[in-house]
Amino acid sequence: MTGLLSLIMNANNLFDYGVCAYSKITDMLIECPSKNRIPKSAESVICVVFPTNTDAVFADPNEVFNLRRVASQMLELTCTALRKAFNEYSFEWFLDDSPVPDVTAASFCGLGAVGDSGLLLSPHYGSFCFIGIIITDLIVPETGDEVTYCIHCKKCIVRCPAGALSESGGFDKARCVKYAASNASRSPNTFLLRQGAAVKGCNICREVCPYNKNIGRADNHPFIKVATNPDSIYTSEGGYKPMGGLGQEKFRKLPDDF
Ligand code: SF4
Ligand code: SF4
Repeated sequence: MTGLLSLIMNANNLFDYGVCAYSKITDMLIECPSKNRIPKSAESVICVVFPTNTDAVFADPNEVFNLRRVASQMLELTCTALRKAFNEYSFEWFLDDSPVPDVTAASFCGLGAVGDSGLLLSPHYGSFCFIGIIITDLIVPETGDEVTYCIHCKKCIVRCPAGALSESGGFDKARCVKYAASNASRSPNTFLLRQGAAVKGCNICREVCPYNKNIGRADNHPFIKVATNPDSIYTSEGGYKPMGGLGQEKFRKLPDDF
């Protein structure tokens, strides 16, 4: 059964993924509208790691939004195929709007360590990656055990220009420069911020992290090759649902702890 799951994941260009039991993260769920999409009787969380350490992203950090768009289409097509193959089971995907703490879940899956930067530290991509989530009521064998943490060198905390990171492990997203320009931001000026050089790619917490020292580039990774191929099936619009498809207006009206 899981051989078929791997086959479907790989056929949709998803190779870097792991699985943890849903029960491991149930007491950490984030209160948000997308929580309602979690399948009843959920059993497994599949975390997919998408690399961003490419020449194009280093040249223009906003290129990551194109990668997220393609990733969302891959997740959508994958879940459609999984629902057909395992028609008694539910599969729901999340990207910008995960009700699961994605970094912790990915670490439970054995995909890397939780950094004091709040980022996943993948052994392959360091913190130059993002995480897609699929939650299902199908029982899929786990690929990891416990959460692991970084070496706490504190470089990201000390060097953060906005004071967004704290030694207690907190991440104040309201202060983070990068967050202000992301899809998850509720700033009415998000679009302008993304266009403006002022917020174009604060990557300091990534640049100083020792986990990013020897990671190389992922330009030849299958995901990147597909995502950057203008002839691929992933169109410019596709099924990307930033902010969980709520739209800017509804998203901005959500409570602050969303
Ligand atoms: S992206 Fe920049 S502002 Fe945000 S936490 Fe990292 S160093 Fe701080
Ligand atoms: S810079 Fe140091 S403290 Fe921050 S995530 Fe990396 S290893 Fe952890």
